[in-house]
Amino acid sequence: MNNSKKIVLVGHFGVGKSSLIRRFVHNAFSNDYKVTIGVQILKKEITIEGKNLTFIIWDIEGKEDIEQIRPSYLLGTSGFIYVIDPTRSSTYVNLNNEIEYIKTNFIEASIVSVANKSDLIDINEFEQELKQNNLSIHFFSSAKTGENVEFIFEKLGIDLLK
Ligand code: GDP
Repeated sequence: MNNSKKIVLVGHFGVGKSSLIRRFVHNAFSNDYKVTIGVQILKKEITIEGKNLTFIIWDIEGKEDIEQIRPSYLLGTSGFIYVIDPTRSSTYVNLNNEIEYIKTNFIEASIVSVANKSDLIDINEFEQELKQNNLSIHFFSSAKTGENVEFIFEKLGIDLLK
């Protein structure tokens, strides 16, 4: 049996949403910064615990506030990846509210939060900072080095197949 699930990456401009998708789908990275306008949809099939899963991955324009995203972009989403940039606090000061908004409005969806660009920070120090601000993040990733990228999509996939 083949399962198709819609995944949306959300978060501010420039946090690395497109780069994470490019790393996951094409195993590539570029330093060029191209702003996503509107939406790009990519497909990737993986096998998890013997089951096929097709991710339909929506790369949408970055927005400071999830409520600004066009509702049709989020319709039917099974899994959210909320991406922050640990080098820019403006991308995570409002994290708890953003996650709460998703949980309230997409009751059935799975959500993971990801601090990308882990190659640029000291993870222990950043975790301390999060703790002091009552914030928490599920995973760290680097689209640049590839660290954790596949792992995060797989974790989300396992959740979606439950
Ligand atoms: P988006 O607007 O959220 O889709 O962000 P992009 O994927 O376009 O990335 C914004 C910028 O951050 C680009 O210049 C990327 O090369 C850079 N970038 C993305 N991911 C990483 C990462 O893991 N490490 C580093 N050092 N730079 C990254």
